[in-house]
Amino acid sequence: MAGIYLHIPFCRKACHYCNFHFSTSLQLKADLLQALYLEIVSRKDELKLDEISTIYLGGGTPSVLTGDELSSILDLIRLHYPVSENAEITLEANPDDLHEDYMNELLAVGINRLSIGIQSFSPTDLAYMNRSHDANQAIVSLQLAKKAGFDSLNADLIYGTPGMTDETFQKNILRMIDAGVDHLSAYALTVEPKTALAHFVKSGTSPAPDDEQTVRQFALLRHILKDAGYDHYEISNWSLPGRHSRHNTSYWQGEPYLGFGPAAHSYDGKTRSWNVANNPKYIVGMNTGMPDREVEVLSEKERYNEYVLTRLRTKWGCSMADLSQDDQTHFLNEVAPFLSKGWVLGKEEVYTLTEAGLDFADHISSELFR
Ligand code: SF4
Repeated sequence: MAGIYLHIPFCRKACHYCNFHFSTSLQLKADLLQALYLEIVSRKDELKLDEISTIYLGGGTPSVLTGDELSSILDLIRLHYPVSENAEITLEANPDDLHEDYMNELLAVGINRLSIGIQSFSPTDLAYMNRSHDANQAIVSLQLAKKAGFDSLNADLIYGTPGMTDETFQKNILRMIDAGVDHLSAYALTVEPKTALAHFVKSGTSPAPDDEQTVRQFALLRHILKDAGYDHYEISNWSLPGRHSRHNTSYWQGEPYLGFGPAAHSYDGKTRSWNVANNPKYIVGMNTGMPDREVEVLSEKERYNEYVLTRLRTKWGCSMADLSQDDQTHFLNEVAPFLSKGWVLGKEEVYTLTEAGLDFADHISSELFR
């Protein structure tokens, strides 16, 4: 279940809350794509993978690329990597890019899963977040995606924005369900350092997100999606039965992956590496044959911590069968208080978060770390 991730570091507008790596100037797009092609070819023997079963174009906003540009990237990958016939190929897109002709081009180049950054249907929310699209474009993009034939359709949603009532949020969720998405990713608004939102909160221009509102809206989300038949398989992800994201699930299962493009991470099961999060430096590195990439060999302790952090967030939980004897002893000692509190459930040597524990996932993981 190995995968390839491509980071496309361009966006049309900077969302106030975002701390991903991206540029709002598309001036370097052609040079960056040339550098990306070089990286794709130069790393073809790195992991010696038998099969690539998922490709994920994320960012940034990959839908700033034309159909021809996407075709060049995917053709090159297919030429140099063993991409399986039924590979899941996902493209992250913003609603304002998704016109009818463009969606047909996406299907023609082999994109078979679309992940649309909707975030909200409320004009007030969209303005607060500085999104590049309006509410109508959000609605139309979902309709057009279904009409074009994207059966695998994810939508991103954000909750906990200041002033968002539970009624507005409930309408957002119901609209997503009505639109026929088979997958939904929902995130609480968080104030990340060095973002415009962090500046607004610090200067008093915006209130900080309210914890009670966030917890309440997360519960509302779980409740409504459960009633609608969606499986809550990761703390921020829901899907209709059997429609989970194969790419992201591979990450959570600890499978190897290759990441191309600035700021992209790679993992081979023992070693993590990541490209420089800077477009000009990335381009120079690829063109001179001296990629600006850092490599870290994970210690056993780091691998254990990562396992706990990612797996506890999933419905598959932490299985004692995956841990060494030492790690099992440590885990079982540390998890005991959370079993008593009813935040973690242990069943047949597999430990998962309960509904009550979901609100404390990060705290519980950190207490289980070595
Ligand atoms: S479109 Fe996505 S990557 Fe770009 S700024 Fe907004 S949230 Fe960040």
